[in-house]
Amino acid sequence: MKKLENKVAVITGANSGIGLATAKLYLQEGAKVVVSGRRQEALDEVAKELEGDFITVKADVSKPEDNKHLIQEATNKYGKIDVLFLNAGIAPPTPTTDITVDHYTEIFDINVKGPIIAAKEALPHINDGGTILFTNSIVHQKGFEGYGIYSASKGALRAYQRVLTSEVKSRGIRVNAIAPGPIETPIYGKMGLSEDVIEEMGKSFAEQVPLGRFGTSEEIAKSALFLASEDASYINGVELEVDGGLSQI
Ligand code: NAD
Repeated sequence: MKKLENKVAVITGANSGIGLATAKLYLQEGAKVVVSGRRQEALDEVAKELEGDFITVKADVSKPEDNKHLIQEATNKYGKIDVLFLNAGIAPPTPTTDITVDHYTEIFDINVKGPIIAAKEALPHINDGGTILFTNSIVHQKGFEGYGIYSASKGALRAYQRVLTSEVKSRGIRVNAIAPGPIETPIYGKMGLSEDVIEEMGKSFAEQVPLGRFGTSEEIAKSALFLASEDASYINGVELEVDGGLSQI
């Protein structure tokens, strides 16, 4: 029996990295998947490689009207939602001395406002007993230089998840988060850093991880499958670190 047979899953940031690997795995496990991202060309590209019952929806999570549109498209096509995976996010670093209001606003709009508004829009359409899953990061548990706003955004999201867990308890909806450590995805190429700096940063992160390496999107996708499935039926309100042990030392 497939783990998500006939379940409807909505995934944001699903045209790349962790979201894309999860979309593939959910489809393999029998889910109907709404694959969302903010760039139509990227969605068209991934649509060519995905197999199964899915639709793509272009939605910028920082825009409230796009979140509404995403949920409308999902429910028009598949009816009620079983799994809402709020994964889209950005991680541009900036030391505190260089923080600008634009930097702050962009990160908080995408990483905090986006998932909160998407959850609000989706709630009436999520089946009782369904699940809401977020992608946080271990950054808010440690002090990685230069990641002040990014860490604050993920910490804010973590605080919100605790409240959401309480708010949906009467409906049996489980709310969980994954906190990845360094994962090999295209996100590092989008930080506005040179290749040399990215390579150096990669080495330094890998050295700090007890398992001595970056994780893969597929390793995060397996955790996203576990938390969304019945295998995690009594796991609620947690932030699961999938980080090779980095947050624990
Ligand atoms: P990625 O860049 O490959 O994927 C990010 C996805 O989010 C992309 O599909 C992108 O288009 C989408 N996105 C960005 N802004 C958006 C917006 N405004 N509207 C809609 N979609 C938007 O990177 P990834 O590593 O797969 O990142 C996924 C999540 O994992 C993010 O929330 C990130 O913070 C988190 N994360 C990543 C790492 C890592 O090392 N890669 C570590 C910890 C947490």
